[in-house]
Amino acid sequence: MPTSTDTLVIGAGAAGLFAALRWAERGPVTVVEAGPDAGDPPPRWALHDYALPDAHYYRYTDDRTGKPIPQGRGLGGGSTVNSAAALRGQPWCYDGWQVPGWGWADVLTGFRGIEADQQFPGASYHGADGLIPITRLDPGPLDEAVFGWCRDAGHPAVEDHNAPGALGYGAWTTNRRDGGRWGTWAGVVPAARRAGVAIRPDTAADRLVFAGERCVGADVTGPDGPERITAGRVIVCAGAYGSPALLLRSGIGAEDALAALGAEPVSVLPGVGANLADHPWCLLDVDVTDPALIEARPVSGALLRYELPGEPGEHREAEIFPWQTRPYDLTSPPTRVSFTAALMAPRSRGRFGLGPGGPRLDVGHLTEDADAANMAEIVATTGELLEKLAADGVLTIPDDAWWRADDLVAAARAAVSSYHHHSGTCRMGDPAAGGTVVGPDLGVLGVRDLAVADSSVMPSLPRANTNLASMMIGYRSADVIR
Ligand SMILES: Cc1cc2nc3c(=O)[nH]c(=O)nc-3n(C[C@H](O)[C@H](O)[C@H](O)COP(=O)(O)OP(=O)(O)OC[C@H]3O[C@@H](n4cnc5c(N)ncnc54)[C@H](O)[C@@H]3O)c2cc1C
Repeated sequence: MPTSTDTLVIGAGAAGLFAALRWAERGPVTVVEAGPDAGDPPPRWALHDYALPDAHYYRYTDDRTGKPIPQGRGLGGGSTVNSAAALRGQPWCYDGWQVPGWGWADVLTGFRGIEADQQFPGASYHGADGLIPITRLDPGPLDEAVFGWCRDAGHPAVEDHNAPGALGYGAWTTNRRDGGRWGTWAGVVPAARRAGVAIRPDTAADRLVFAGERCVGADVTGPDGPERITAGRVIVCAGAYGSPALLLRSGIGAEDALAALGAEPVSVLPGVGANLADHPWCLLDVDVTDPALIEARPVSGALLRYELPGEPGEHREAEIFPWQTRPYDLTSPPTRVSFTAALMAPRSRGRFGLGPGGPRLDVGHLTEDADAANMAEIVATTGELLEKLAADGVLTIPDDAWWRADDLVAAARAAVSSYHHHSGTCRMGDPAAGGTVVGPDLGVLGVRDLAVADSSVMPSLPRANTNLASMMIGYRSADVIR
């Protein structure tokens, strides 16, 4: 007997658990998750560690650069392995999507619905009662030194980095409770279970099942072997790589890609896997003179955001911030600090593909010259900050610092890696436009009763880390899917 449910959600990550919770308001929901469930409530390590057991990661490699691309796996998905940096992005990020129903005024209802802001619950643009606590931690000594430089450089102070339009320096907004990362595993799983959602870990969707153009379920493989789950609707929330991979395996994608996989075409959509976007970052590693200046500081202290010159309305936003390296790399000395220089509005795009040998991906960091030039500029500014802090005796800079190179564009291109904000591979947009995979109602074009609701639908990146925006998309799936 196949399992049957009203709504089948594929992937219990940042978006998937919110989608499951909201759809449970209307009827039975089953969520399948390829990765593990290590307990409810999550064990202490799942909240406080930043190098998790290997079962909680997918390990991809960027084909072009050979650099590693980790992705979250298991309950909470990326929200379980991430740094709990919780930025929403600017109003113009969402207005710029130009998708009806997804402008700033629309997405704000989702952002307010998921959060319980700890410092500004009464602000009109914040939520007070959601499942994800948003908090700002007290700055440490290194953060204060960074703030001092920002002030002297003429940047404004920011009380709340999630206030619409905020630019300047202030404490990171983070999703933490009692110092621990509070993603969808800790925050949403208990509520979803209370609402009757059946959460099935260690169960991967192999392919979607169709009756004509209707999606009627999925073939999955779980601890007891292969099984078919039938459903009234299927919502794919398998992330920026998992979602296009599942569509391709199921016959949805570019004609040549489907042919290479031997998949019978169900809907020919060349946009599946295209439009891959990620924020590029460069890390400038230094050592503080005293570990007490930064001790136990994953991304949670000082954050500077400002705009570089660009095309009118382009808002070429940059970020600079420090974090202690050791929580992520246990072999690192306690003095080691990575200063991040990040470009938050990249023009470069990459591509995800699935060959018979497995996933192929090229994230495309800094392939556009304008991005490389901007990154060199952000690195140069970060270098100035470091020289000042070194002169003040706060830190030491290695003699062979890569960012002191004469050709900073080439040096940035060699040093660039991923800020882990992969998105865009099942692009949402105008159904009539080439490259669109899902319409404004998140429905996959050319079929019925199948939607995608996660980071993969973002037409372009918000100028922010993507966890909150992914949660918002999952949450809003219940408002927009027809
Ligand atoms: C190392 C790292 C650090 C990050 N740091 C931050 C940060 O500090 N702040 C921030 O805002 N963002 C951060 N991000 C990004 C953020 O976590 C992601 O953008 C977000 O989790 C994406 O949500 P999603 O729901 O689209 O996908 P995910 O959260 O990745 O969820 C997808 C889920 O689907 C499951 N899945 C995939 N394929 C299948 C299948 N076939 N069958 C069943 N299940 C499947 C996966 O196992 C996974 O659990 C980070 C990401 C990483 C990897």
